Amino acid sequence: MVIPICTAVVIYVPLLLIVRDCDGMPDPAQRDLLMRQEASRQTGGQIVLTAAEQKLDAYLHRLKEQEMSAAQFPPAIHFFKAKHLIQRSSIFKLLQKMPKGAALHVHSSALVSVDWLVKNVTYRPHCYVCFTWDSSVRFLFSARPPPPRWDCFSWQLLQTLRGKLGDPTGFDNSLMQHLTLFTQDPDGEYPNQDVVWEKFEKAFIAAAGLITHAPVLRDYFYKGLEELHQDNIMYLELRSGLSRTYELDGTIHDKVWTLKTLQEVTTKFTADHPDFLGARVIVSVNRALSVSEVKAAVQEAIQLQKDFPDVVAGFDMVGREDSGRTLWYFREALSLPAELGATLPYFFHAGETDDEGTDIDQNILDALLFNTSRIGHGYALARHPLSKELAKKKNVAVELCPISNQVLKLVSDLRNHPATVLMSEGHPMVISSDDPSLFGTSGLSYDFYQAFVGIGGFKANLGTLKELAANSIRYSSLPAHLKEKGHVAWETKWDAFVADNCC
Ligand SMILES: [Zn+2]
Repeated sequence: MVIPICTAVVIYVPLLLIVRDCDGMPDPAQRDLLMRQEASRQTGGQIVLTAAEQKLDAYLHRLKEQEMSAAQFPPAIHFFKAKHLIQRSSIFKLLQKMPKGAALHVHSSALVSVDWLVKNVTYRPHCYVCFTWDSSVRFLFSARPPPPRWDCFSWQLLQTLRGKLGDPTGFDNSLMQHLTLFTQDPDGEYPNQDVVWEKFEKAFIAAAGLITHAPVLRDYFYKGLEELHQDNIMYLELRSGLSRTYELDGTIHDKVWTLKTLQEVTTKFTADHPDFLGARVIVSVNRALSVSEVKAAVQEAIQLQKDFPDVVAGFDMVGREDSGRTLWYFREALSLPAELGATLPYFFHAGETDDEGTDIDQNILDALLFNTSRIGHGYALARHPLSKELAKKKNVAVELCPISNQVLKLVSDLRNHPATVLMSEGHPMVISSDDPSLFGTSGLSYDFYQAFVGIGGFKANLGTLKELAANSIRYSSLPAHLKEKGHVAWETKWDAFVADNCC
């Protein structure tokens, strides 16, 4: 049946509106109806705003009009050059106050700002530094001068080195440059994905010597929760390899120690901040490992989840997808939980690529076939209609990390991010920050800004923000009763935020 839109009531045949061209002027009322129907499909499109929310939404819309007509539009510019513009934005200031729910995609080595790492951690006693042949740095806490090792011939005590330097601020800034990608000249320094990923991986290695010192890890994790809490975030799911940690005398602690420490710090933080729900860990291993190593890691993760069910959320494979091994390559390892009759939820990074049609481009489909609970990035999802349908049917959310995708050079102008399609279709989605310290962000407000203003454009409204924030609780790994508790607590904060800012 074909129904001319000019003369008939618009009819939905599930997901398909049948219209045909017709002569003359289209009926403005029906045009309006079609536009409203399309808008209702977008993220938050089904949410009915209260009177107070409508006022705040109208205010946000006016702010958006101003920002979109400004000479420089931040989402169209590299984040490193746009950061100061975003900080001045009235929308950003509102987003900072907005209760954003949970951060579900953050890596443990990039949780805390580099400013704190350098100004606090490297000023602690017994901190040694070494400058490597490949222009990187290593740090090590040690009671006595560390012996040379393959990547470090000469260690210097930072306290002594700083005493000899005339410009400690300049020196500290140079140390920070080793720990972050942030630079004033991103296009010059990072001409392509290979170069930016090389620096990215070096920064992780440089930070490791600081973060894996056992006393630092406690403070580091507490500080990380504090930075999230200050940005009105109430819960964290952290990707972590649970690296071994070390004491000053060289004692090494295992993964269980690290997990227990994260648990203790979380308990202390939630006692100090009762409105914070907590944190859980997604145990992560690098996709550069062999199948047998990943098999062992999966078995270990099953055991850790059994022993720490409140803390361990599941398992993921991390590292650059384009140069790493595919999920399908690890199929024997990833099938283990089912074969052993065990449960191990997966939270796979998948589709963080623009290499269409390659083996790695199939990671999204394989992640879904392995029953992933969420998809990390899913940048390629919009290009895979079947996977997209499958993900929607299985209610698998995409963890959208806009700034990460831009800095790692998948997209330059965020208005062209493929998530524009996902957002306009109301695909399950949450917003996250991936590696905040590497990108010079903190919390989720910067990524929410890019998603709301750049990716969502004028269509995204307060309902979009409300759904994205609520989604972060909905698609978290929390058990049902904690999700309910979290949602109620978030809603109370949301209503207060609207009341404080609407009128
Ligand atoms: Zn990630």
